[in-house]
Amino acid sequence: MKLKKALRASLVVVIVLAGLGLAAKIVLMDVSSVPEKSDSGIDFAAIDLMAGEEPGSLPTAINRVMILKGIFPAKYVIAGGAPADYHNAMPSYQVVYTDTTVVIDPVCGEETMRKKSARGAEYQFYTVGFDAAQRAMRKAQLIVLTHEHYDHAGGIPDSPYRDEILPRTVVTAEQADSKWIADAGFTPAMLKAVRHLSYEKYHRLLPGMVLVKTPGHTPGHQMIYVRLRDGKRYLLAGDIAWNTDNIRRLTGRPLLVSLLLGEDRDLSANQIRWIHDEIFRRPDRNVRLVVFHDYDALEALVKAGDVGDGFQL
Ligand SMILES: [Zn+2]
Repeated sequence: MKLKKALRASLVVVIVLAGLGLAAKIVLMDVSSVPEKSDSGIDFAAIDLMAGEEPGSLPTAINRVMILKGIFPAKYVIAGGAPADYHNAMPSYQVVYTDTTVVIDPVCGEETMRKKSARGAEYQFYTVGFDAAQRAMRKAQLIVLTHEHYDHAGGIPDSPYRDEILPRTVVTAEQADSKWIADAGFTPAMLKAVRHLSYEKYHRLLPGMVLVKTPGHTPGHQMIYVRLRDGKRYLLAGDIAWNTDNIRRLTGRPLLVSLLLGEDRDLSANQIRWIHDEIFRRPDRNVRLVVFHDYDALEALVKAGDVGDGFQL
């Protein structure tokens, strides 16, 4: 009798624990709430106007080099997962003007990547791409970061030409103050040597290039809007989403991932809604959405001739 009771009690405990586990799994891994309307306050028309100039002053091309290709498990990319895992890209970008260039998001070196990657993560590191980005930075007028994570900024502290390129590296006030900038390898001395930038909402870096402040993924996150001379437009959305599916399905990262990254989920969710409504669903605006880590989407842009394969050196 007693034994039966004890068995029943432990069965109840097991069921309760399993229930709690399931509830925790749902909350931590499956739930994401993107609002019906974005309160991000970003005004597309204002950004596009700011990017417009005498056509002759606008950039002529945007190029990418691939520095890493790996697998991004869908369960970490999008709340609730997806039928298949995603290809993870780590590219760097170059915006080309008639007489100058800008490099965006120099990816860290191979050693840093090995140290920072999850154990057992499989990826291919392309030294050729890393070297091209490094050579391009020596020639670039400016180097700019969508945000201060090592896979977007580590190519500067890891650079063999570091002292030469630091004075042309634009670091925003929020990026300089973020704990992630040290994690990416920037020392206080390096931060002293960079070009500092403070701005309110938008900042025109050069003709045809507008920075759009979007804290959330990190405190120093910004999107980069590019308008080319031929009328093509691009929104480099950094890491607001890790895959276009986050935008398409209006679903952010799992809560657990946001917690580990220390993200402001509410800000990110509003930015996902904004990109969805103002870019993704507006083909009339002629803006190509560039989601940094979305390998397949990026390579489709390269195939279409919208993003150039390789840097101009
Ligand atoms: Zn990031």
